[in-house]
Amino acid sequence: MGAGIIGLAVARRLTQVRPDARVTVLDKEDRVAVHQTGRNSGVAHAGLYYAPGSLKATLCRRGIGLLKEYCAERGLPYVECGKVVVARSDRELAPLAEIERRATANGVPGLRRLSPGELREIEPHAAGVAALHSPTTAIVDFPAVARAFAADVAAAGGEVRLGFEVVGLRRAGERVVVSSRDGERLTFDLLVVCAGLQSDRVARLAGDFPAPAIVPFRGEYYRLRPDRTDLVRGLIYPVPDPRYPFLGVHFTRRVDGGVDVGPNAVLALAREGYRWRDVRPADVWDTLRWPGFRRLARRHWRTGLKELYGSAVKRAFVAEARSFVPALTADDVAPAPAGVRAQAVDPDGSLVDDFRIGRLGPVVTVRNAPSPAATSSLAIADHVAARLLG
Ligand SMILES: Cc1cc2nc3c(=O)[nH]c(=O)nc-3n(C[C@H](O)[C@H](O)[C@H](O)COP(=O)(O)OP(=O)(O)OC[C@H]3O[C@@H](n4cnc5c(N)ncnc54)[C@H](O)[C@@H]3O)c2cc1C
Repeated sequence: MGAGIIGLAVARRLTQVRPDARVTVLDKEDRVAVHQTGRNSGVAHAGLYYAPGSLKATLCRRGIGLLKEYCAERGLPYVECGKVVVARSDRELAPLAEIERRATANGVPGLRRLSPGELREIEPHAAGVAALHSPTTAIVDFPAVARAFAADVAAAGGEVRLGFEVVGLRRAGERVVVSSRDGERLTFDLLVVCAGLQSDRVARLAGDFPAPAIVPFRGEYYRLRPDRTDLVRGLIYPVPDPRYPFLGVHFTRRVDGGVDVGPNAVLALAREGYRWRDVRPADVWDTLRWPGFRRLARRHWRTGLKELYGSAVKRAFVAEARSFVPALTADDVAPAPAGVRAQAVDPDGSLVDDFRIGRLGPVVTVRNAPSPAATSSLAIADHVAARLLG
């Protein structure tokens, strides 16, 4: 279930390890990759930030290698433009050292600590007291990768059924009966729920626990004017706030040659709400009544307000990005399409950091697959297939 990059990668893997099985991917939209997979930064992460030994660290490291090979095989864009993480002040040196420690433990290749002068040689417009360079961090076209996965599923005899919104799941002995909004019923031996922003709701339909719930955080972007894209050669990131799983507003070169600035992280008023005016009362209600959200809000309301301000006031958004690329001005950027992150939140108010994948009889549920899940998709698929069939 779910024709995002995770559902499609899992389906593709199942056609490889069980060529005798009939594999079907269901999605409510009329195209693949409509939600998170089609609205992200397009970065193949090398594995810098993640706690050594976590699923994120191991699946990201393995996933980036598999993704690079896959893109080469399929002739899809994969550009190793490299990334710098910039410490803006001495206060950020300790968190930068922790990122370096984690990245080294995760086996990220080619890492180098940079002085301010060395940083300028790599990114002439970036400024900071120190930086970390990851030359193998790359940019890709995730929707194109997802479409290629869908083509692989079809070529192996599987089916990608679009326009099929799952509204009911029922166990019938060892099997699962899936019903669509249009009243159609399909029976499966095994089901993998990869429903992204709706994953908690669908997992609940399958009888799974309500926790963790999805809280949607919109990530808004601006795009550099074409005559200003020379401000950035590759990828320029700040040192992120270690309290959050988000990486901070950064500069991302895209495979089409453009440069995006973002994403921020503001609470979305609809799970698939890409603009401020997209409000879905049922989604707002689900967020507000989740005890984990109320605890999160009590603890982090100051950060929430700051993000809101940056969302409402372009100059505030730009000021944040200018703190490590000082030549940037508000006139250099125009609004670009946003994405919404499916961030799982536990009942105690903590943002679930690692990927979370559960199993309930014949149903595997992917409950938390935020960044770097797109990078890790081929490795996540191996992991899920092993879990499902092992
Ligand atoms: C702003 C932003 C920036 C990011 N940047 C990066 C990055 O640079 N690098 C990286 O590796 N990752 C990044 N990510 C994370 C990455 O995009 C996600 O981890 C990944 O796309 C998750 O894929 P998915 O298949 O789980 O979810 P999705 O792509 O959201 O797919 C879920 C699918 O399930 C379908 N669905 C849901 N409910 C139902 C239902 N009831 N019936 C039928 N179908 C249903 C939806 O229509 C959807 O197609 C970013 C995410 C965001 C939002």
